[in-house]
Amino acid sequence: MLEVVTLGTGSPIPDPQRAGAATLVRADGVQLLFDCGRAVVMRLAAAGSLPLLLDAVLLTHLHSDHTTDLADVITTRWIMAPVESPLPVVGPPGTQRLVDRTLAMLADDVGYRRDHHADLTWDPSCTVHEVHDGVAWESGGVRVTAAPTDHRPVAPTVGYRVEVGGRVVAIAGDTVPCAGLDRICAGADVYVQTVLRDDLVRGVPSPRLQDVLDYHSTCADAGRTAARAGAARLVLTHPVPPPAPGTEGEWVAAAAEHFAGEVVLAHDLWSVTLD
Ligand SMILES: [Zn+2]
Ligand SMILES: [Zn+2]
Repeated sequence: MLEVVTLGTGSPIPDPQRAGAATLVRADGVQLLFDCGRAVVMRLAAAGSLPLLLDAVLLTHLHSDHTTDLADVITTRWIMAPVESPLPVVGPPGTQRLVDRTLAMLADDVGYRRDHHADLTWDPSCTVHEVHDGVAWESGGVRVTAAPTDHRPVAPTVGYRVEVGGRVVAIAGDTVPCAGLDRICAGADVYVQTVLRDDLVRGVPSPRLQDVLDYHSTCADAGRTAARAGAARLVLTHPVPPPAPGTEGEWVAAAAEHFAGEVVLAHDLWSVTLD
């Protein structure tokens, strides 16, 4: 059994209906969390999970909308753990530095709680594996590989390919189409892609928003990548700008123009289960 849950489908633009970027993959008793956007721990709880139950956190890149609640994942895992449980964190080069700084930020709180709870005799900790191209995480029948993606000037960034029992899930993160993305998506049963509507963004008179046009996949890009990869199902997430109610079909149609498989615009806690 393989399940994909889009925990948070938002972008940096606040949207009360969409938590920050985060996707949960559950397979063969393993739970892998991809990215840690805002409110990820709330959405994990809604999906019947907890930081303590995660086997690993895998970051696609170090942009704040994908990492901001890593601190909450670390703290909540630590404070609920009956025994010391370092959190495995996988991500592109730079992840160790992010984790070190996050733990440093938490130092005061760690002190308060350790002073108050006599049985809490350890600090929160993480085991970090930095990866750019190759095996990201592996245990039992679950294997995750990483490939470089293109979100420049943000670099390095990675996408992940989860393989279990002949099934494949691709978690792309923020990227324009590129060879690494094609590799992780090849033959995917589920391809999760963060997307942007360039036609809508171009109409917003904000120079800062115009800047994001050139480093995200559009819906059409995602559709073309899915078609090239021979994917079965394309899941659009992290839509920029947040879709106005009633316009969801436009996002799906823009991708479906280039891809004959199933296309979904994900909402928070949308899920799909594969046998
Ligand atoms: Zn990004
Ligand atoms: Zn993002």
